[in-house]
Amino acid sequence: MRIVQLATEFAPIAKAGGMGEVTVGLSRELKRIGHEVEAILPKYDFIDMQALRSINMEVPDFKCMEKGNLHANAMWSAECEGVSLHLLEARHPAGYFHRGKIYGCMDDAARFIYFSRAAMEYLKLKDKPIDILHLHDWHVALAAVLARDLFKLPIKSIVLTIHNAAYQGKCAPWDLDYIGLSSAKYMTKEKLQDDDPAHRQLINILKGGVIYADAVIAVSPTYAKEILTPEIGYGLDLTFHRANAKLYGILNGLDLKFWDPGKDRFLSELYQAGDSIERILKAKERNRESLAKRFNLQKVNRPWAGAITRLVEQKGPELIEVAIDDTLRLGGTFVLLGSSPTPKIQEHFEKLKAKNKSKSVHFHFEYDESLAHQLYASLDFLILPSLYEPCGLSQMIAMRYGSIPIARATGGHKDTIFDCEDLKLPAKKQNGFLFSSFTPRSETESFERAFRLFREKPALIQTLIKNGMAIDWSWEKPAQEYMRVYQKCIQNQRAIA
Ligand code: ADP
Repeated sequence: MRIVQLATEFAPIAKAGGMGEVTVGLSRELKRIGHEVEAILPKYDFIDMQALRSINMEVPDFKCMEKGNLHANAMWSAECEGVSLHLLEARHPAGYFHRGKIYGCMDDAARFIYFSRAAMEYLKLKDKPIDILHLHDWHVALAAVLARDLFKLPIKSIVLTIHNAAYQGKCAPWDLDYIGLSSAKYMTKEKLQDDDPAHRQLINILKGGVIYADAVIAVSPTYAKEILTPEIGYGLDLTFHRANAKLYGILNGLDLKFWDPGKDRFLSELYQAGDSIERILKAKERNRESLAKRFNLQKVNRPWAGAITRLVEQKGPELIEVAIDDTLRLGGTFVLLGSSPTPKIQEHFEKLKAKNKSKSVHFHFEYDESLAHQLYASLDFLILPSLYEPCGLSQMIAMRYGSIPIARATGGHKDTIFDCEDLKLPAKKQNGFLFSSFTPRSETESFERAFRLFREKPALIQTLIKNGMAIDWSWEKPAQEYMRVYQKCIQNQRAIA
């Protein structure tokens, strides 16, 4: 099959969160099993071109229309992590991809709508049949509408993966007119008009993708069900219900090469799932010692708990604060790695840091890849109190590094974490602690349980570590599931034709 991925992230060159790891992991695995895979993304100014191979100017000049003007673009080809990339250099006067970051600009809708149209212009120019055009999240969801209605591209099926339904790309109708789609035609309940009665005057790009795609894939089976509710579907629940027959849930995989405690260049001491538990515990101890020294922390205060996360509403910052208090109260050590794009939340955590001079807590307000690896290898418990969690990679990484998740039972957490006191489960499956309600009380109960078992039942804790480390998080199974959906879409198309 010829599969084209259209996305705004691709790790390691352009990563803001889990999506970047998914586009690369899935593409690489699909290629490994024999498919022709390409990915198109913007050529952001911050991309480290040294990380790419076989860089070529593929199309030096092609135009993309916006607001009646034709803007120049170039397409570069390159190879990254074994996958063929096409990088769109938009020579647009607004410098759409020269912002030093992927998201968070006032004109994000215009930037990504432009990217979607320019990518379709490029595919039109190439005029090479495509089996699957695979879109990721709202940023590129309009490509489904453009490919079908405007460019009429030779694409058998279009698939949309939803990494986070809370972000939908709501914009003004004239944003569609600007790129050649008549808003009058799309401003209907059946098409792209927003479902929320308070936003009926707006276009919802994610909704357009859901309606036009031949299959919609949520990033975990539980999340595929949860988005059918108004809370977790963020108001698009009715649209997801309408799409129910083509809605699937496929759990993400993990890049096992990047996340490998047996070969991780950031760790002081390496270890792996096949090692004895004594060896694993010793290696984690050494990694903890390095961090304790670096941050002047008390390594003796155990267990070590921590969070590695964006401090945004979804990740439950208020419950992370409770977890810090609980850890200190129960005699452990806490390390927080993460910062917030929301000034109010960031300032709150800065104040907490200023107030807390204990040698049992460390706050690190940065995005620091090497520290994340070291922390996964040092922690006893990773806390994940998410309000909702489409899939979540952090809990999988934690388990691969022998850290036990304490998580809220939502979305992908429910599909990957199995509570150690759930007697309905076989002992081999148990790998963590879950709490159900999004309240300090519910979280504290699970913390107290985890700390008690850590002190009183070390053998059980060791079993959880071993169980978590033994899980196969590779892309093999998810890629097969994606293939089944791709094939089904193509069969359905044939049946219609
Ligand atoms: P999301 O994509 O919603 O942020 P995921 O759990 O799917 O959540 O993926 C988060 C990824 O980002 C993980 O690889 C995690 O280790 C990483 N990460 C989050 N915050 C930081 C940070 N401050 N420094 C380094 N890595 C981080």
